[in-house]
Amino acid sequence: MNRRFAGGRLVIASHNAGKVREIGALLAPYGADVVSAGELGLAEPAETEDTFAGNARIKAHAAAGASGLPSLSDDSGLMVDALGGAPGVFTADWAETGSGRDFPMAMKKVWRLLEEAGAAEPRTARFCCTLCLAWPDGEDVVVEGRVEGRITWPMRGDRGFGFDPVFVPKGESETFGEMDPARKHAMSHRADAFAKLIRAAFA
Ligand code: IMP
Repeated sequence: MNRRFAGGRLVIASHNAGKVREIGALLAPYGADVVSAGELGLAEPAETEDTFAGNARIKAHAAAGASGLPSLSDDSGLMVDALGGAPGVFTADWAETGSGRDFPMAMKKVWRLLEEAGAAEPRTARFCCTLCLAWPDGEDVVVEGRVEGRITWPMRGDRGFGFDPVFVPKGESETFGEMDPARKHAMSHRADAFAKLIRAAFA
């Protein structure tokens, strides 16, 4: 039996205000009063592991240890089968330019590498999301969500973020970038992970 969240303050181990707002709204019905690691002035630890779960654990345990409060982290990314699972834990890094993130550049890189590899269609891929809820005493709950799909080219749609314009979920024709956000949020890797986390530790 997993340990369960007992209500009260919950640190979101992220400095991304959008992510914190979204997670706060999702968990409010379960008595979670969220505060971000950024608001608490907590340092961002280096993500040195080679798995989403490893990096999610680093972030949640660092925040729980520094704040003395239960803390939740999210680590996510895109895995492309014909690229051996890349960009994977380096998904955000592929968009890094030194002066901000350039996702069209990162999506072009994915496409160019697939072309160079002569990858067969469909160019299967998945978005993954790992959540780690950690307590200051070191206990944790880790869940993994995913959505299967394929990489398409050219990029289509401007409704999402990140790599959404080149990802078509399985059984769909629109990219995540074209899709009504409510539909995306109902089928995404993050939706899958949060459903599992709520079952495991909140419901
Ligand atoms: P993180 O926020 O450091 O875990 O980085 C996640 C990376 O994966 C970012 O570069 C995001 O753009 C990308 N990513 C994660 N989830 C999605 C999604 O739902 N759509 C598009 N890109 C995503």
